Amino acid sequence: MKCSFCKKEIELGRGKMFVRNDGKVLYFCSSKCEKNMLELGRKPRKVKWVRKLKKKEG
Ligand SMILES: [Zn+2]
Repeated sequence: MKCSFCKKEIELGRGKMFVRNDGKVLYFCSSKCEKNMLELGRKPRKVKWVRKLKKKEG
């Protein structure tokens, strides 16, 4: 599965699962991603470190 925020691949048994009120399931590789998405409501495209990460992975 992939992190719902930064799209990084999450190893099995790692990361966090979160079920939204609308029933959509979100996965997060780290509390950093969880916080950005849930608390700050950020869009991955607008977050610098996510874009950087994507660039690195090609
Ligand atoms: Zn992530």
